Amino acid sequence: MVGYKTKMVERISLPAREQRERNLEEAGYNVFNLSSDDVFVDLLTDSGTGAMSDRQWAALMSGDEAYAGARSFDELESAVADVMGFDHVVPAHQGRGAENVLYGTLLSEGDVVPNNTHFDTTRAHVANQGAEPADCPVAVAHDPSASEPFKGNFSLERGRELVDEVGPDRVPVVIQTVTNNSAAGQPVSVENTRRVREFADEIDATFVIDACRFAENAYFVQQREEEFADASIADIAHEQLGYADAVVMSGKKDGLVNVGGFVATDDADLFEQCKQRAILYEGFPTYGGMAGRDVAALAVGLREAVEREYVADRVEGVREFGELLAEAGAPIYEPPGGHAVYLDAGAALSHLPDETFPGQALVCELYREGGVRGVELGSFAFPDTDRPELVRLAVPRRTYHREHFEHVAETVETVLEKREDVRGLELASEPEMPEIRHFTAELEPVGP
Ligand SMILES: *Cc1c(COP(=O)(O)O)cnc(C)c1O
Repeated sequence: MVGYKTKMVERISLPAREQRERNLEEAGYNVFNLSSDDVFVDLLTDSGTGAMSDRQWAALMSGDEAYAGARSFDELESAVADVMGFDHVVPAHQGRGAENVLYGTLLSEGDVVPNNTHFDTTRAHVANQGAEPADCPVAVAHDPSASEPFKGNFSLERGRELVDEVGPDRVPVVIQTVTNNSAAGQPVSVENTRRVREFADEIDATFVIDACRFAENAYFVQQREEEFADASIADIAHEQLGYADAVVMSGKKDGLVNVGGFVATDDADLFEQCKQRAILYEGFPTYGGMAGRDVAALAVGLREAVEREYVADRVEGVREFGELLAEAGAPIYEPPGGHAVYLDAGAALSHLPDETFPGQALVCELYREGGVRGVELGSFAFPDTDRPELVRLAVPRRTYHREHFEHVAETVETVLEKREDVRGLELASEPEMPEIRHFTAELEPVGP
């Protein structure tokens, strides 16, 4: 048995109800505009919001801030080689910096890029190169009630249809995102990764794994893919990532740090090209936009992420949170993913038409009722797509305890009891780019 005890604490408080009402109004009913001091349990994202271990804090103190040839970089290089199996690493300030380095190197105007599902920044970086992102999720990915083990998989059928349509020459890169963040954090099987490798070989494409949550994915593989029932998390991660030509990584997820990222590959030519582009956009290739101390903490975090005790506690904690919410009567996306539980707001607030943003209305009620901050991932965040109206409650790593999750479940229960009174919302002002409107747009309650 392994667990954690607390060495440092941070005070949080629940503002009074009238204050929460005022905060919500002042924030334009958009919780991105709230001050975090006014949030009691913050489940906005799992990105860079986790707690580091004592070993990581110790590594911070010994980080090497040399501009070139820093010892901390050697530590990162050796952690990436041991944990992920790649010889070459190009550090970046975070995942999207790594995406810019890699996709700026691999893509050009007119290319088409299949991915099980593009995460927002991936989609934007593919588009920024003049290429077209194409999602290839399996059909069950957007069905909140289908109880299947690998709803994050890449649909080979869709991928091959796409190649038939546009021709293989226009598809130089195939991406697989593990876990599939934009499909409720659902896992991808190793078998599916093998098939995507074959698919990439057929069309002579570079196979990239977006590895942000590779350790959580490996845990699901161990639990759900028979072939790997007796394999270690470290061996599964190593095998799955080993099918890729390159990985792109945000250290803010399974790197267990607050900032950082990298590209890793065994391909010497690709490495050389990425390195040059990284100098332009990120920094010298031994720090890449991170402080040396952050590089050092990332090297430790990567190794901790594949320790069974860590990742079992992590994923099982999210699963138990899902159970608490289901017991509170909340309709949730089943089964919960690795980093978050998703509420089905369309089902919870079925009296609200989609045009009045039931997901965003639910997000606001969770704050109003319990100072809980989640995020809408439905028609407010993704205009003009027919996704389910989901609200994501992302779980920061090693940060909250059962009492916090119980508070959230009680909050959800209370909101559901009063569901008939929940009003929809309409846009009051929005920025120019609809793709990123949910970060800054303001809303107001629909008139009575
Ligand atoms: C977070 C994330 C990114 C981008 O990483 P940042 O560190 O936020 O820039 C890319 N892909 C996926 C799947 C992610 O979850």
